Amino acid sequence: MVIRDFDEFCRDITDIYESTLPNTEGQVASYIPQLARVNPDQFAVSLCTVDGQRLSLGDSKADFSVQSTCKPINYSLALQLHGEHVVHRHVGREPSGRGFNELTLNHDGRPHNPMINAGAIMCCSLLKREGEVNVADRFDLVMDTWRRLGGGTKVKFNNSVYLSERTTADRNFALGYFMREKQAFPASTDLLETLEFYFQCCSIEVHAEQMAAVAATLANGGICPISGERVFETKTVQHCLSLMYSCGMYDYSGEFAFTIGLPAKSGVAGALMIVVPNVMGICTWSPRLDKLGNSVRGIEFCRRLVATFNFHNYDTL
Ligand code: GLN
Repeated sequence: MVIRDFDEFCRDITDIYESTLPNTEGQVASYIPQLARVNPDQFAVSLCTVDGQRLSLGDSKADFSVQSTCKPINYSLALQLHGEHVVHRHVGREPSGRGFNELTLNHDGRPHNPMINAGAIMCCSLLKREGEVNVADRFDLVMDTWRRLGGGTKVKFNNSVYLSERTTADRNFALGYFMREKQAFPASTDLLETLEFYFQCCSIEVHAEQMAAVAATLANGGICPISGERVFETKTVQHCLSLMYSCGMYDYSGEFAFTIGLPAKSGVAGALMIVVPNVMGICTWSPRLDKLGNSVRGIEFCRRLVATFNFHNYDTL
């Protein structure tokens, strides 16, 4: 057992959950009505160890849109399809130090990394092989990957979120045209189709229990602890976690790596996917966000977590 006294561990996590619950700072995302309308008081914490022990607290069965947490999954899929060299011809691997949707590219006219919007749009353009035309199959591949990463339970798609995302997407369109001007996309990329595909990926819905299993699959090097199925190659997961560590928390990424020391990815619906390599995956979900777009309770939970346990990357020194 990777956590020897799981009952005691669960008691400690429950204490951290309860201490974090009274924090009502921050605001829910309001750029689309579907996010503005969610009950902001909801708070879920779910975890899954690499040997399949699980704990779920609070609203852990409430669905939320994955939003930016689709970025590490799509990046991993692009790596699986094309390998590191092809993928990184189109997208960098350097933190941008800028907001997640800022209109900025690196010196080569490429997105800084796959964890910001420009890079995520680029990864969406890479989720097909030469000559493949069927965008429906690409979406099925993404949905099926989420399902397998999460241990086999079906994931959902929120069409209203998708429609709203599409009609309030000027910045993402601007990023798309900017990259097209720089000839950053693979040959024969259909920009509109790629952007719509990105909005669809953001509109996939899971609950905290499913996302914890997804994080646990990453913690376990690509093998799902629930089903035993290998979903991603170990190398893919290593690349993905490296970029989550340096770029996963928007322009708080450096601060998060310093203070928390774990690979993580946040999304504007309030999710936080946290990976403790070789130990467990954790998902927190709470919709109120700080100014940088990270879940306020999610960040507080992580602070308390590493204050209680030696999960920080360098705690073992
Ligand atoms: N759909 C959002 C966007 O593309 C997702 C961003 C996020 O979660 N940070 O702007």
